[in-house]
Amino acid sequence: MLWPGVVSVLAAILALTVLLASLVSPLAALAWLAFVLVAGTLANTVFLNRLHHWAESPGSRDVPSAPLFWGRIFDRIARFARGEADARRALTRDAATARSIVDWLPDALVLLSARDQIEWHNRAAQDVFGFLGVRRPIRQFVREPEFAAYLRDFEAGRPLQIELSARPGQVHEIRLHVLEDERRLLICRDITEQARLNRMRSDFVANVSHEIRTPVTVIGGFAETMLDLDLDEAQRRQYLENIVRQSQTMQRLVADLLTLATLESAADEDSEEIIDLAVLFEQLGAEARALSAQAHTVEVRAPSGLGLVGRSTEIESAVRNLLSNAVRYTPAGGVVRLDSCRRDSDLWITVEDNGPGIAAEHLPRLTERFYRVDRARSRSTGGTGLGLAIVKRIVGRHGGSLHVESRVGEGSRFNLILPGSRVRALPLPQAPETADRAA
Ligand code: ADP
Repeated sequence: MLWPGVVSVLAAILALTVLLASLVSPLAALAWLAFVLVAGTLANTVFLNRLHHWAESPGSRDVPSAPLFWGRIFDRIARFARGEADARRALTRDAATARSIVDWLPDALVLLSARDQIEWHNRAAQDVFGFLGVRRPIRQFVREPEFAAYLRDFEAGRPLQIELSARPGQVHEIRLHVLEDERRLLICRDITEQARLNRMRSDFVANVSHEIRTPVTVIGGFAETMLDLDLDEAQRRQYLENIVRQSQTMQRLVADLLTLATLESAADEDSEEIIDLAVLFEQLGAEARALSAQAHTVEVRAPSGLGLVGRSTEIESAVRNLLSNAVRYTPAGGVVRLDSCRRDSDLWITVEDNGPGIAAEHLPRLTERFYRVDRARSRSTGGTGLGLAIVKRIVGRHGGSLHVESRVGEGSRFNLILPGSRVRALPLPQAPETADRAA
């Protein structure tokens, strides 16, 4: 409150005026009043001038000082100015923080004027679109026709998938959001990985449908023929055998798909045990001989005293798949060999054959689902095209890798490379005569 100060100053001037009029003379009192008026007006002018001078550039100057009620007014203004400066500093700091956060966002953000001129963009936008200049139309920098069409015929909520010339081989999704003042915020996100997964998923569904359609069509065809025609016993039997064979193909396909799904979802550390490789090799060698039906020489070099820590059903399934391929793709009279060795502390389990071999260009794609080099032979021998995908997944789950060496016309060697940390020495079985002597 300024009133009490003003009132007491006026009261003091008035008291002095009355005192001068009664003790000296009315003229002296008048002179005193004139002096007060002139001095007051002068003081007001000086302080108003200081205030005006300060107000011209409040940020760079201190609020002036003054006596009496002017001092109190200036103090108030100084306090207000300090508060304002603090608030402005805090705001600038927050804006800088928000800006650096926005700069670190992986998504590109561009603020566009109502006429699609760039008003602001973050760092990611610079990376994604290449050079961007503020206050210039975005179409100068993003020249793809589908982008121009998207800007022109924009519909809320509809994104644009685009391959930008500044980022070849990558897929981006662009979304526009209209702000309240007609400006537009453009958000651009790299969806290359998502697009790849979507493509893989739809390819997989298409492949499965295709794989199932063939046996189902064959089964349906034979069943309809059996219904429509009067067949003799031999024909009936042949048709039924075809139906059974095709249904077995479907069963194998479903079983392999389930195996892959289980391998993808099961936890890695489930039920590991020490697998005796000698026992495993002998058992799988016998199965391979049965599958070959004496058409091949199956050689097994079982490592004695060697254990492998792993999930036995999975390791068994991986080696069985490789042996089954070697037998199925190697013509009669060929040799199939199951062997193992230690290399750089890793354990290599090798299935080798002297079959047709695989051309180098196929090797990188062998473990893709449904990828086949010899489609006809795969189908005729009941292959599902999933065997090597399963093997790769299993060996990966055991911290190892699948390594394929092959030469057309010479044969193939499939190596399961497992980390040495999984290898254990096992007690060797006692020879029977030693056991007898000990008894
Ligand atoms: P499939 O069920 O068709 O055998 P795989 O995934 O096990 O599927 O194998 C993929 C492809 O690799 C096979 O279709 C075949 O063309 C080729 N292949 C696999 N093993 C051998 C081999 N030992 N010799 C020659 N080609 C092979």
